[in-house]
Amino acid sequence: MSVTVFNPRINDAAGAKTTATAPAVIALTESSSAQSPVDKVAPKKVFVTTQGCQMNVYDSGKMLDVLGDSHGMEVTHNIDEADVLLMNTCSIREKAQEKVFSELGRWRKLKEKRPDLVIGVGGCVASQEGDNIQKRAPYVDMVFGPQTLHRLPELYDQSNEQRDIAPKNRIGTIDVSFPSIEKFDFLPEPRVEGYKAFVSIMEGCSKYCSFCVVPYTRGEELSRPLDDVLAEIDSLAAQGIREINLLGQNVNGYRGEKDDGSICRFAELLHYVSHVDGVERIRYTTSHPLEFTDDIIDAYAQLPELVSHLHLPVQSGSNAILAAMKRNHTIDVYINQINKLKAIRPDIHLSSDFIIGFPGETDQDFQDTLNLAKELNFDHSYSFIYSKRPGTPAAELPDDVSFTTKKARLAEFQKVIIDSTLAKTHEMVGTTTRVLVEQIANRHPDCLIGTADNTRTVMFPYDENKMNELLGKIVSVRITDFVSPHMVKGELIEVLA
Ligand code: SF4
Repeated sequence: MSVTVFNPRINDAAGAKTTATAPAVIALTESSSAQSPVDKVAPKKVFVTTQGCQMNVYDSGKMLDVLGDSHGMEVTHNIDEADVLLMNTCSIREKAQEKVFSELGRWRKLKEKRPDLVIGVGGCVASQEGDNIQKRAPYVDMVFGPQTLHRLPELYDQSNEQRDIAPKNRIGTIDVSFPSIEKFDFLPEPRVEGYKAFVSIMEGCSKYCSFCVVPYTRGEELSRPLDDVLAEIDSLAAQGIREINLLGQNVNGYRGEKDDGSICRFAELLHYVSHVDGVERIRYTTSHPLEFTDDIIDAYAQLPELVSHLHLPVQSGSNAILAAMKRNHTIDVYINQINKLKAIRPDIHLSSDFIIGFPGETDQDFQDTLNLAKELNFDHSYSFIYSKRPGTPAAELPDDVSFTTKKARLAEFQKVIIDSTLAKTHEMVGTTTRVLVEQIANRHPDCLIGTADNTRTVMFPYDENKMNELLGKIVSVRITDFVSPHMVKGELIEVLA
């Protein structure tokens, strides 16, 4: 089974992103032989759209995995040939609910033409809205939350069995509960294609930043047991995965139980992962300054597998705004953490998330944010204009920065970040960088492309007859040319691993 992800530009659970407004579409191709008796004749086809963060992208892949495993369903990119439509929703953006219902309105027309179509809504909006979804959109067959996606096969069977009953009277077709961490126990073995994979190590968030819905939609932080995480990574490495991206709302809050009952914290987990045979690069997404502890910083001195790129959301450069956001750290703490890390890894590339125009943000607060961006020279960042999220404490605050001011500030802020991104990419020319070779360049069949530690795409020429030998290898490339803000060209120096 292969997973193809289109448009997955995201980061912190706060969902701060500067681009990518269209829902991401996840698609898998598979030829599963695991079919239930009812599906033997013609496998059902499932189509998924994914909104929001990397956690949702990961979850969508798992939804397809469970339906493939239980019902032999195949994945389609073509909505018109699908038997099951799944919408994995995100409530980070303004008017998220309305956007979901408007998309569902389009799906209703499909269902009018094909009454057998099964429609499911999952993710954070489903979690927030619960049975309200079927009240407003009675043609929706299943509603499930991020923690219950493993129950999709059951929900699917229940909705099929009760097809002739009005959705509001059906039993067992809505499940938006938070059943501890059991989801991970029911998910099929990870299957991948390519050389990189995400591994979810925890769910939920207990930080309760005042602007964020995640603690309410995904529940409190819950870590997977250490052995489960390592077993998944072992399996991935055995399938040829070289880069692992540890995933969670706040991965550095990881507290996974070991088999002796003691607790493994994030820094220790990094050490364990680095010892898995075949794993050459480790990333993680995303983390919180509050728990970016010295043992994690020390890991950068000890573990060459840990990439020289850190995404550490800060949200604002003003202490007053950070306090109003309930981030529970100051700018000094943040800068101090970054400086410690830079002392260990002078080549570290930084990225962050910013919210512009939070309630009460003065000109000086914004100036502090600009100053922070200039001082720390972020490699790239995700930034968006503040808007209220229903049910969050910040929604009670007067949204007193005008939209015009917010827009002007965002443009000014993004200009600083874009200039910094461009400068950093230009600075790569003449340096040598570590690259995971991933594929033959589509438009340049004499070149291979891969990803650098700092997430830039790197292209380099290679002998066309030997290209396959380098796929999946970690190589050293000397950068010779700037191609675009996120792409460079170079020449191969040596194969490292
Ligand atoms: S740390 Fe804050 S912004 Fe991030 S998921 Fe938790 S509550 Fe949301």
